[in-house]
Amino acid sequence: MTEKNLQILFANRPKGWVDQSAFEQVETPLPDLADGQVLVRNIYLSVDPYMRGRMNDAKSYAAGFELGQPLQGGVVGQIAKSRNPDLQEGQYVSGMLGWERYSLSDGKGLQPVDPALGPLSYYLGVLGMPGLTAYVGLLDIGKAKEGDTVFVSAASGAVGSVVGQIAKIKGCRAVGSAGTDDKVAYITDELGFDAAFNYKTADSLGSGLRETCPDGIDVYFENVGGPMLDAVLPRLRYQGRIALCGMISQYNLERPEPVYNLISLLVSRASIQGFIVSDHWDRLPAFVADMSGWLREGKVKYREDVMDGLENAPAAFIRMLKGENFGKQLVKLGEE
Ligand code: NAP
Repeated sequence: MTEKNLQILFANRPKGWVDQSAFEQVETPLPDLADGQVLVRNIYLSVDPYMRGRMNDAKSYAAGFELGQPLQGGVVGQIAKSRNPDLQEGQYVSGMLGWERYSLSDGKGLQPVDPALGPLSYYLGVLGMPGLTAYVGLLDIGKAKEGDTVFVSAASGAVGSVVGQIAKIKGCRAVGSAGTDDKVAYITDELGFDAAFNYKTADSLGSGLRETCPDGIDVYFENVGGPMLDAVLPRLRYQGRIALCGMISQYNLERPEPVYNLISLLVSRASIQGFIVSDHWDRLPAFVADMSGWLREGKVKYREDVMDGLENAPAAFIRMLKGENFGKQLVKLGEE
């Protein structure tokens, strides 16, 4: 192969909002394979909110990105060369690999993907990590049950859109918030949420919640944190549950915003539990079986926002953090 590899390196640790100076694009020779290794041709790359946390020099649940090394993320690709008897050339796989056209791997952590269950890109979204996050967070952590009112923030996104649709399948009332009128129309008109509001144009977060959840909230699937969490707390019903999935409104702030209404947990005997999807891989088989069925039956719809070209991965990541994505943000690196 005379082709070169293109890589996006982590060049500078951002303070506050991320910009292009955090990234550096380099061309490198394609690596040679040792016994047991494979070369993966990366096709889709996922850019996800948690990557902002990995850019900080602070202790977290995932190791930080190393300066001077390619950033890492969820990838679907095809085995281009193999010296590993368990992985055949031409096979499609998913795994955590570099922001690069080709990745060298010893095969550990690579999962075969089945193109028959859905498009390859779905393994980075509705059939992958974000879908499993929605499933575990809503059903295992939030313990949503028939008749519950489920409210989810960032409701048009990769995780949130799936949360609301699973809630509907389970007989709940699904309510969401999103940052544009188009997103609000999409989740109610196309995804079947019972109600939604634009958190940027509502008179206040409290009034948006009062109008859409007049009888209170049984399960809050928390994706954004900050003022939204504060507005939800007093609206929790008796023994309400908050599944704390993420707090994207806080990721780029140098000083987190305070939350004032925690006493509402006491008043309503409610609970809040954080969770990390990687602690729940044991739920993958049940999730894939359920989700592939729901997709086939048309009970779950899914939207993607795809940018072309590895060189646009930093721009895709930055626009997702700003809320400019409409659906799961992906980068397409090459042909399927
Ligand atoms: P996503 O929702 O597809 O994209 C991010 C969305 O967040 C944006 O489109 C934007 O939508 C919203 N947003 C951005 N800034 C915001 C702000 N200041 N206030 C309110 N909303 C804002 O991303 P995703 O991958 O599905 O992730 C959603 C959440 O789940 C994130 O918090 C992420 O960290 C979390 N997550 C957690 C786990 C876990 O294991 N715990 C796993 C996956 C994801 P709007 O236009 O609606 O503002």
